[in-house]
Amino acid sequence: MPAKLTLEQELNPWLAAEARFDEAAARLGLDNGLCKILRLPSKEITVHIPVQLDDGRLEVFTGYRVQHSIARGPAKGGIRFAPDVTLDEVRALAAWMTWKCAVVNIPFGGGKGGVICDPSLLSEGELERITRRYTAELIDFLGPERDVPAPDMNTNEQTMAWVMDTYSMHLRHTVTAVVTGKPLDLGGSRGRTEATGRGCMIVSREALQHLGLDPSSARVVIQGFGNVGGMAARLMHERGFKIIAVIEVDGAIYNPKGIDIPKLMEHRRQTGSITEFPEAEPIGRDEAMFLECEVLLPAAKENVITSQNASRIRAKILCEGANGPTTPLADGILAEKGVFVIPDILANAGGVTVSYFEWVQDRQGFFWNEELVNTRLEELMVSNFHQVVSYADKHSVNNRIAAYMLAIDRVAFAIKLRGIYA
Ligand code: GLU
Repeated sequence: MPAKLTLEQELNPWLAAEARFDEAAARLGLDNGLCKILRLPSKEITVHIPVQLDDGRLEVFTGYRVQHSIARGPAKGGIRFAPDVTLDEVRALAAWMTWKCAVVNIPFGGGKGGVICDPSLLSEGELERITRRYTAELIDFLGPERDVPAPDMNTNEQTMAWVMDTYSMHLRHTVTAVVTGKPLDLGGSRGRTEATGRGCMIVSREALQHLGLDPSSARVVIQGFGNVGGMAARLMHERGFKIIAVIEVDGAIYNPKGIDIPKLMEHRRQTGSITEFPEAEPIGRDEAMFLECEVLLPAAKENVITSQNASRIRAKILCEGANGPTTPLADGILAEKGVFVIPDILANAGGVTVSYFEWVQDRQGFFWNEELVNTRLEELMVSNFHQVVSYADKHSVNNRIAAYMLAIDRVAFAIKLRGIYA
């Protein structure tokens, strides 16, 4: 990353991914040739998909699928639908998936997909047609041994059911293991929906204990009340953490005594929003981010902690539920302030870990009960958390660079063992 950055450069997720990669690779003394391989995604596919809208008009949507690495196994990673998706963003997210799968040591590479569209303006039928045509265009690149998508921003288990069905129709037989995050009745795994939030809860608890703080009285601020933030909030609340503020796109709420999360979920279900919750007061969205707390959990989107605001963070622990919520310039500021960062590739790895369990169950045709899924997730998250933290200590680097170093080392080792096919 250049020394002097414009704000646009600072917020470019691909430059952010490269900056962390370069730092970790330099620390590892990674061979120059391996650096060149790992710095670039191995495959980038762009598709322009014609879709008939409900009013009869034809529209063409642009979609991407980037496979960053398949060195350790099939590409793995979600598909997101959003109006501002860019190829650079999908590239960065694909690279982060490679490092995420390697840091938790599951046998996948990294990939990511995106379609430029605004789901809030599309009907269910339109979304289905976009999903099916996108899948059909990518059919040769997908498969349980090639590339296994999952839900991400604005996609869900229904989207995965459509991907699975489209793929299966082309192959003429049902292939459940081509996607994860499917509905339970179509080969989904118990515990998958909660998995990312559960992982965030587990690593936050471990971090609190590591710092000698008591999880049962920890104050938590959560940004995003969707699949990740909402689930983490529920599971943390069940364990006595005090969720003092929740921030959403349309407003934020605050209660220093702790918000009753099941009641807030019920309120949101009835009104469609977290605002005007009677048991909390409204607070500015920015103000809430900078409240004094033990854990700040950004679980919404990229670039929410930047050089412009990092100095105002008053959390002891930053648990990155979203992918890429912190820019590299903000990393330096947080380090100076002594904030304990649980980097995204570790903090939100619970989702892809249970995706791995789902893929294993589909391929075996044998399904686990929820307790087994949760126990195995717990074991992996706890041991990977401690591995990253001791690696950071041993090599005198921050947790993020430690996680990258561990991950890059594993992927580089796989490439070395396999050798280069010429
Ligand atoms: N989209 C999720 C992530 O960013 C899950 C990916 C997966 O399960 O493959 O980690």
